[in-house]
Amino acid sequence: MGYAFVTSACFGCKRLFCYNPIRVPSIRDPATGQREPICQACVNRANPERIKNGLDPIVPAPDAYEAVDEAELP
Ligand SMILES: [Zn+2]
Repeated sequence: MGYAFVTSACFGCKRLFCYNPIRVPSIRDPATGQREPICQACVNRANPERIKNGLDPIVPAPDAYEAVDEAELP
């Protein structure tokens, strides 16, 4: 039993960040149609814009940016 982090570049700001691949919030890349993870800073930046556009704010899970228990991975 162990814990895993996934690290990749944020889709919004391109900075590397660590996250739980199951819980991290993500947005769809219009170019590829793939879900791409975004970091907490980008969530914070996106939310006022989303609310202004009548969308629900993104609320990441409390453990979205923490390690994931290996047992939860597919
Ligand atoms: Zn970001």
